[in-house]
Amino acid sequence: MPEFKEPAISSANQMGQGKCNKTEQEPKIVIKKSSEAPPEVKANPFYDAEWWGRANSPDDIYLPDSDEALSFAIAAHEIGHLIARGKRLDTGIDNFEATLAEEQRAWDMGWEYIQKYLGEYYEDSPEVIPTIEQAFQEIRNILMQITKLSESMYSGPGSLEEKRELLLSENGEDIRKLIEDMKKEKINLKPEWDRFTTIVEKAVKDIISDNVTQK
Ligand SMILES: [Zn+2]
Repeated sequence: MPEFKEPAISSANQMGQGKCNKTEQEPKIVIKKSSEAPPEVKANPFYDAEWWGRANSPDDIYLPDSDEALSFAIAAHEIGHLIARGKRLDTGIDNFEATLAEEQRAWDMGWEYIQKYLGEYYEDSPEVIPTIEQAFQEIRNILMQITKLSESMYSGPGSLEEKRELLLSENGEDIRKLIEDMKKEKINLKPEWDRFTTIVEKAVKDIISDNVTQK
């Protein structure tokens, strides 16, 4: 999602290299629930544990524990940011064009890593998988629209707070409407958190190993 954060040189240059457990050479992967987000995230007017997520690095991942449609879609997007190939490092509050491109890239590249393991998660109910895939497409479209509506966050003078105010007054209604539309994609199945994070971890491990080979 548009993270509305200060410019951060992100983790692409660390991935596949540092962050390894010294004895096993296994990358450390830490996935927390979005409801456990740090206070500065929760202060964002659009923060919502049902669909907010982030993946700053393999050991700094937050995903929603809300509804399987939302959890899988957001997981696919967020881990897409961990893929090194084509990653933009010039995103940030002063570069909307780069942020938009990075958001699009994460949506386009992350899904296949999650999709690979849906059969494992839905071993006993494979008929759910097409619904999850359909919901992913819809949620991707809606969140890209929300990102586009957030352009005022990335331009003009003013503090982050002032820009947030401006965004809320200019596009707050449209954004809220889109968020409501996104929530209509819910399928009323709460994730089995341990099984969910198990497959996301596998997907992140695949990304880390691809990052090494696809430099
Ligand atoms: Zn994103």
